[in-house]
Amino acid sequence: MNILKKKLNKVNPEIILRIIKKYKSPIWIYHEKIIQKQISKLKKFDIIRFAQKACSNIHILKIMKKNGVKVDAVSLGEIERALKAGFKGNSEDIVYTSDIIEDNTLQKVILHKIPINIGSIDMIKKIGKYSPKHKVWVRINPGFGHGHHKKTNTGGKNSKHGIWNLKKAYELIKKFNLKLIGLHIHIGSGVNYIHLKKVCQAMWTQATSINHKISYISTGGGLTIPYKNYKEKVNIKDYYKIWNKSRNKISKKLDCKIKLEIEPGRYLVAESGLLVSKIESIKNVKNRTFLLLNSGFNELIRPVLYGSYHYISVLPMDNRNLDYSNMIKVIIGGPLCESGDIFTQKENNDLYSIKIPIVKVGDYIIIHDTGAYGASMSSNYNSRPLIPEILIKKNNFIQIRRRQTIQEMLSLEI
Ligand SMILES: *Cc1c(COP(=O)(O)O)cnc(C)c1O
Repeated sequence: MNILKKKLNKVNPEIILRIIKKYKSPIWIYHEKIIQKQISKLKKFDIIRFAQKACSNIHILKIMKKNGVKVDAVSLGEIERALKAGFKGNSEDIVYTSDIIEDNTLQKVILHKIPINIGSIDMIKKIGKYSPKHKVWVRINPGFGHGHHKKTNTGGKNSKHGIWNLKKAYELIKKFNLKLIGLHIHIGSGVNYIHLKKVCQAMWTQATSINHKISYISTGGGLTIPYKNYKEKVNIKDYYKIWNKSRNKISKKLDCKIKLEIEPGRYLVAESGLLVSKIESIKNVKNRTFLLLNSGFNELIRPVLYGSYHYISVLPMDNRNLDYSNMIKVIIGGPLCESGDIFTQKENNDLYSIKIPIVKVGDYIIIHDTGAYGASMSSNYNSRPLIPEILIKKNNFIQIRRRQTIQEMLSLEI
């Protein structure tokens, strides 16, 4: 079967048409079932901590909570979201991870006794001054990194993240009487097993460089999903095995029990999400055909930012049968007043065409695997309101974020 048809059938076209009828397009849609499936694949880890920046809707966080997943927050807003979703302070529920801590965030983490994953020496000084005995982790920068793109590589000399010298940080942590409970390493998105062993080695070197019993090791996030190529699929079994071995070794050496934590964002939500938009115009320009949609990079910025590939399928407005043996080549763009507003572009910003069946204005385009870094990265650029988010539960659906009104957008200025 044609891959696009397969992709479309998988996401249940009838229910999507029902959703559009009720809430119009463009719209984000998530399948709860897929999130649950992804969570279950990571059950071997002692703690699964969702990096909520990938998809921070409170209702998505509630799904995580219901399924035993804990949460990471990288800002005051994300802490508030976690609390709203029912996660508690003074527990393992929430960890605040950052390289800086602003005054209002510090007040909040002190009030709720939220452990802090420290990414800079200045943070140690600030937390130590205002909240001695606070529980802290250290985010280690091992001096090298890995990422699907240089912007998602979070280790090494070009990365602003983490602490390079744990020994030095530890001296300060002791001086300020903070409680070091865990070590964290997140070097970027993408998994490569040779590389992974290097990361584990770095964790070992750092963890044993100080004489301190820790309770947690976090492997960070970075698990990929097969956006295009099924080779991108991570082998969780191997991933766990490598890390588990490393944890056991460190545990033995430090003579303490250590929980192994994983902190995925993308892996848990990417495949659950769709961006559904309407074809508003079909433009033939010289020998090229442009399809223009009612959503742009203000909704989904990944293709523009990283040249990310997403499968794009067609949903006919009347659910008619499409002819997959007669495909046309199209470039897919949005409504923004900016020539870079194209979903089919490579990392170097060159445009490419994709093959789809023949379509009409009014048909819908589905951009697949957009549950991660989709809605959470969207903006009001071109003064376009944020679009709704819908959650499909079994054979039903609920709106989990309504469409922003233009009035709401303007109200900040009036
Ligand atoms: C972004 C981030 C993650 C999640 O990354 P994914 O690639 O979405 O898994 C995990 N931990 C930290 C500290 C992050 O900044």
